[in-house]
Amino acid sequence: MPRGCGARFRALGLAVLLRFFTSRLAMANTPWKKSHDLSRLSAGFHRLRFTAAGGVGFDAFIWRGEPGPVLLVNGATHGDEYEGPTLLRTWAERWRPRRLAGTVVFVPVLNEAAFFAGQRCAPVDGANLARVFPGKANGSPTERLAHLFDTQLLAQCTHYADLHSAGAAYHLKPWTGYVTHRGAINRTQRAMAACFDAFWVWAGPYLPGRTLSAAFARNIPAIYVECQGLGGVDAGDLRNLDHGLRNLLRWAGLTPGAAPRLHRQAVRITRDVDEAHLQVHHPAPVDGLFVPLAALDRRVRRGAPLGHVLPLDGSDGHLVRAESTGRIILIRRQRSVRRGDALFTLAPV
Ligand SMILES: [Zn+2]
Repeated sequence: MPRGCGARFRALGLAVLLRFFTSRLAMANTPWKKSHDLSRLSAGFHRLRFTAAGGVGFDAFIWRGEPGPVLLVNGATHGDEYEGPTLLRTWAERWRPRRLAGTVVFVPVLNEAAFFAGQRCAPVDGANLARVFPGKANGSPTERLAHLFDTQLLAQCTHYADLHSAGAAYHLKPWTGYVTHRGAINRTQRAMAACFDAFWVWAGPYLPGRTLSAAFARNIPAIYVECQGLGGVDAGDLRNLDHGLRNLLRWAGLTPGAAPRLHRQAVRITRDVDEAHLQVHHPAPVDGLFVPLAALDRRVRRGAPLGHVLPLDGSDGHLVRAESTGRIILIRRQRSVRRGDALFTLAPV
């Protein structure tokens, strides 16, 4: 590591810690009122809309059963990720369990503005919803949305899952993951991730701003799932998500039945805060046309050529080499790139 990098990472670590503690403090000091108290809902199926100032809001589907765990699952934290919305909206249409020992809450599309724009982020303020949690009651529209979700639903749940994907611009090898936590919460998260047994597991340290960061601050066991993306919905991914969700409901005791028999997963747990930070690896060195040389799921050695970026003005192309040895678990699909756009992520799996 060159001189200066250590200081930069220490500074980054301090900034992350500071933001984490100030966000916890802000949350603890801010009173909030439940617009819908889930514990007071009658037994059965409910459709509710949660709203904040300026037309910000989302629809939630709630199955209220006997007293028990409260499982919250959402899709479309990013607007161009359709696997979660497809799964959850389909379940809202069809799922009417005869016995439910707890409460299940689905929000198929959390980020409506980004979803209808077909973009990762909401065009109204350009903010990434997965970087602004726990949000602000009087902030930008995206910050208000984060605050609404955090205070109105996350605060009422006992278990949480956020369904993501590579979106329109990327393709990835599906995985499930969580923020490493202390003792029992960490074990619960590992068990929740194990329910999605068609996916490999990638767990790592706390990063600020995510839905999972807000769950972390509230000591709520939480996982996320990443599906292939490519701007569509892969039928195999959808089956695997559906299977994982059924496992999760049985594992939590929400639905009856024996504990699910689970397939063994490949597991990677890292202490490197940047390892699973997908936006920071192999940045495009210039604006231009991206020409990949390596395919998803291939193992490569450090220094191996991964792709070229060709400037449009005919000047020399730039070769992008592997920063480390590992498997290509994410690759950019969109061939137009701006300087700094992430082109590949490798993981040591
Ligand atoms: Zn996402």
